[in-house]
Amino acid sequence: MATSPALDQAASERLAVGFDGQLISPGDGGYDEARKVYNAMIDRRPGLIARCADAADVARAVDFARREGVLASIRGGGHNAGGLGVCDDGLVIDLSPMRNIEVDSDRGTVRVQGGATWGEVDRATHEHGLAVPCGIISTTGVGGLTLGGGIGHLSRRYGLAIDSLLAVDMVLADGSTVTASEDQNEDLFWAVRGGGGNFGAVTEFLFRGNPVDTVLAGPMFWPLEQTEEVLRFYDQFIADAPRDVNGFFAFLTVPPGDPFPPELHLRKVCGVVWSCTGDLEQADEALQPARELGPPLLDGVQQVPFPDMQSAFDAVYPPGLQWYWRADFVDELPDEAIAAHAQYGAELPSMHSTMHLYPIDGAVHDVGADDTAFAYRDSRWAEVIVGVDPDPANASAITEWTKRYWDALHPYSAGGAYVNFLMHDEGTDRVKATYGGNYDRLVEVKQRYDPANLFRVNQNIAPS
Ligand SMILES: Cc1cc2nc3c(=O)[nH]c(=O)nc-3n(C[C@H](O)[C@H](O)[C@H](O)COP(=O)(O)OP(=O)(O)OC[C@H]3O[C@@H](n4cnc5c(N)ncnc54)[C@H](O)[C@@H]3O)c2cc1C
Repeated sequence: MATSPALDQAASERLAVGFDGQLISPGDGGYDEARKVYNAMIDRRPGLIARCADAADVARAVDFARREGVLASIRGGGHNAGGLGVCDDGLVIDLSPMRNIEVDSDRGTVRVQGGATWGEVDRATHEHGLAVPCGIISTTGVGGLTLGGGIGHLSRRYGLAIDSLLAVDMVLADGSTVTASEDQNEDLFWAVRGGGGNFGAVTEFLFRGNPVDTVLAGPMFWPLEQTEEVLRFYDQFIADAPRDVNGFFAFLTVPPGDPFPPELHLRKVCGVVWSCTGDLEQADEALQPARELGPPLLDGVQQVPFPDMQSAFDAVYPPGLQWYWRADFVDELPDEAIAAHAQYGAELPSMHSTMHLYPIDGAVHDVGADDTAFAYRDSRWAEVIVGVDPDPANASAITEWTKRYWDALHPYSAGGAYVNFLMHDEGTDRVKATYGGNYDRLVEVKQRYDPANLFRVNQNIAPS
């Protein structure tokens, strides 16, 4: 694909003036590596990749994109399944070299640069007995995950990632640098807590660290034949469970290696992946009803340092696999939905494919639906159906299964989906459904801060 006319050699030389990071053009050594993202189904060819060294570089790159009128994407961890960190022909404003993390243990806060990944944050905070709510894979970027909301092992106890967010430093579309918090640029702070990368490039996040050290965590698996029983139990159990007990329901294929017993290798199962904080003896007792449900095929629950839990799936899901997913928020699990889950869960099309129901209750419900841009505060789960396989030849098979599964379950959903689980091509109506009653206010904030829609390689909220 041809380089966009605006990004010829001369344009690249104009951006190079005063730029401290690295500029990579098509044809340069390292170009193919630099344009790769986590999902190997995405194959975009940017006209220029600006690997920013610091906030001043980000401001230069944003200024350049605006002045030259070129398409620009912002790249954090590169994990977005729809590949929204990269664009064809345009400029990638790549924050991945910006990964500094500073923990202030006296204040209990952590300052994170916009290109860091969660594993790096976890390792830094764990030394101080703290953690920030994050996702379930440690290689995911702090940038994209946080700006969409951030759902994971600590959600029931400490809420979404945005519920621990105290402030952001960001570069706006006009090239200016601002701080947004509860008492500075409040409208912007409201919008970035769920509104994604629509409002600017976040160069630094300031989070509250929450007391988390060793957790009681790991999976319990049951035979697929027990799916309906396990789902009904899980529905009731998680509604009544103490906030320290987090557990997401999953269909999966047991990986063929340690620490799983050989007799389970490659067996399709249903299960719950637990992660409990607080008093771990009490948490173990709280999990007893799950064990009594019928002895699990595997009870892998054990005490582990939180960073180990948060990186437990990394080896199964390295970068470079084919990914296609579909999602919804879910308020209830009627019998018909449970039956459909049992049917499609039994048809997992590959070893890596999966379906997760992440609880978003507990502390997530303490925040009002319009207190931040994340609208589905009173929903119960974020459901994500994920087709994954290493082989590009299986891309259509995993995509088809994902779509059929989603079509069957969507009628039982709450309507919208978690914005970070949308693919890149689901359309404006899906983005609107995701923000519900908050959409119009997001449009107003977008109009104020990015009226020309410079930041549009995202789940776009167009200005009015
Ligand atoms: C394997 C896997 C597991 C996941 N698990 C979870 C999970 O447990 N919980 C969860 O909530 N989500 C999860 N996600 C979804 C994840 O939150 C999104 O994919 C998110 O977009 C990834 O952020 P990133 O920075 O890595 O992505 P990128 O691809 O770099 O960027 C994605 C989008 O975020 C924006 N963005 C990124 N950084 C910045 C920044 N600094 N400033 C402004 N905008 C920025 C960009 O506009 C871009 O549109 C998972 C994704 C994968 C692939």
